[in-house]
Amino acid sequence: MQDYQPANNLLKDRVILVTGASDGIGKAVAREYAKVGATVVLHGRDIPKLEAVYDEIIADGSPKPAILPLNLLTASAEQFKSLAETIQSELGRLDGILHNAGMISELAPIEFTSAETWNQIIQVNLNAVYLLTNACMPLLRQSPSASIIMTSSGVGKTGRAFWGPYAVSKFAIEGLTQVMADELDGSNIRVNAINPGATRTKMRAKAYPAEDKYQLKTPEQITPTYLYLMGDDSGTINGQSIDAQPK
Ligand code: NDP
Repeated sequence: MQDYQPANNLLKDRVILVTGASDGIGKAVAREYAKVGATVVLHGRDIPKLEAVYDEIIADGSPKPAILPLNLLTASAEQFKSLAETIQSELGRLDGILHNAGMISELAPIEFTSAETWNQIIQVNLNAVYLLTNACMPLLRQSPSASIIMTSSGVGKTGRAFWGPYAVSKFAIEGLTQVMADELDGSNIRVNAINPGATRTKMRAKAYPAEDKYQLKTPEQITPTYLYLMGDDSGTINGQSIDAQPK
């Protein structure tokens, strides 16, 4: 899958929402989705950063993207609904979501993790995924073939000391993927998860400040798995959790 080469019209005429598209993996994947024809909805919380990604996509000669900012930490359920309504009114359809936005805290034992930190991580990494998915379901139901991709992590499959609420949120994302995939089995909507593996981004640098980042894959290098799972070439795959960098 990491060698997958998409047709250049894989996502032609499709509208794909990418959360956390302002940086790191989300930015790289959004650009690749646009290169194969998608109208990408760039979500994030930092408008100047999103505008820079918008400019890169235009410079690539890809379809004009849209920018929809929303702070996942503070957004109300109504604001998630209104984001989906804006996609409906401005773009008329939605064929996929990459739930990529995420945050980590300082690594610490659960015993010394504050309730505030716990709630923030669970809000952004889990509750926002649930709220945004539900808000977008009416649109996804109308797509001829829709794909939802969640973002997992190695620490969402095997617990690891000090990864606290981040690891717990990713375990829950694995669960959400399985539950939704089972509920939607046989429908027009597939739900899978990707574990990116160690990737050269600001999140990784925060967690491992001393490591040599040049030993890590770049976000651009791991995009094939994201392309494969978003397009119809993976049409029979549902409920899977896939490593973008298998050992
Ligand atoms: P980055 O920190 O580079 O990017 C995270 C993205 O999420 C940014 O666009 C960021 O916006 C956005 N974001 C964070 N908090 C919020 C918020 N409250 N509201 C809106 N947007 C928000 O991380 P990565 O690219 O490394 O991570 C992407 C995904 O991959 C995450 O889910 C992460 O858990 C997962 N992952 C990453 C690994 C890695 O090695 N990099 C390994 C395993 C999993 P802004 O630009 O404003 O900060």
